[in-house]
Amino acid sequence: MSSLDDLKTRAHELRERLEGQLASASDPGALQAVRDRFLGRKAGEITALFKDLGKLAAEARKEAGEALNQLKEFGEARIGDAEASLARRLRESRLSSERIDVTLPGRARPAGGKHPLTLVREEVEDVFIGMGFDIFDGPEVDDDFHCFEALNMPADHPARDMQDTFYLEGLPPRLLRTHTSTGQIRSMLANEDPPGVRVLCPGRVFRRDDDITHSPMFHQFEGLVVNEGITLGDLMGTLEAFIHALFGKEYPVRFRPSYFPYTEPSVEVDMGCSTCKGRRTGCRVCKQTGWVEILGSGMVHPAVFESVNARLGKVVYDPRKVSGFAFGTGIERVAMIKYGISDIRLFYESDVRFLEQFS
Ligand SMILES: [Zn+2]
Repeated sequence: MSSLDDLKTRAHELRERLEGQLASASDPGALQAVRDRFLGRKAGEITALFKDLGKLAAEARKEAGEALNQLKEFGEARIGDAEASLARRLRESRLSSERIDVTLPGRARPAGGKHPLTLVREEVEDVFIGMGFDIFDGPEVDDDFHCFEALNMPADHPARDMQDTFYLEGLPPRLLRTHTSTGQIRSMLANEDPPGVRVLCPGRVFRRDDDITHSPMFHQFEGLVVNEGITLGDLMGTLEAFIHALFGKEYPVRFRPSYFPYTEPSVEVDMGCSTCKGRRTGCRVCKQTGWVEILGSGMVHPAVFESVNARLGKVVYDPRKVSGFAFGTGIERVAMIKYGISDIRLFYESDVRFLEQFS
């Protein structure tokens, strides 16, 4: 038979152990283990004490029962408190670890800018689109017919010497185009509404040159207008409007006779020097003339129309009825004049200190 004192001693000891184990339970799993060990319905140590009540003498049971109930309430309260305080600590630590410091500086995203040659090409395209031109995109790998022969430069023509290029192995023979004038031929051949043509052909071109003023790859744009009744006056008005749109109306424009195999007559187009503003004494950029050459142009040579007709197998562009003008220049040249750049190699060196001035 257990005595009341014995039961009270065990209750006291249980209370001490419960306190000790609660103090070292630092996670939800450990707390649940303490709860099971002391208050579990079947195997809890406090629960077990209640079973010993029946072994006490009747007069001792009431006092023992009260002591055990106090112990049970104490255990539940302490474990409940411990659970609540652990949940609070876990929540606080999660909040502090997930906190966003809004005072930190933002992460800068590096932003690129457009290359000056792209800027100039887009600006030139915009001007001509505004004048009703379509943009015509031709292949960089082309053939002798489109690059030379159809442009009135047969195999023995001396003008080919100035445009030596890169030839690709294999048949049919292929080459890298030396000028965007290939676009003249291709746009006339592809024309769905002949004989009217009004296209601008920008793109990369290639030549076997590599020195301080020549790059084996550079950029051009070529323009072509064909229809009945097109005159040299249309050429002059169009190119003057283009130069004024790109550089400003204050620049004078002049036309000089010249020679290209695929135009007749041929005309070089100069504009007032943007560096010295056309002072009478000039400057180094304009070689003391006050003028810089900006475009080559001319009236389409009848032989060019004949070549296209021959390829089409019918007379679509009859030189007695239709006429046209063509023009072209290097995008690098226009960019150098526009931005006052003196060395063509700057465009290809990918030096950010140079490029970032344009973005
Ligand atoms: Zn000048």
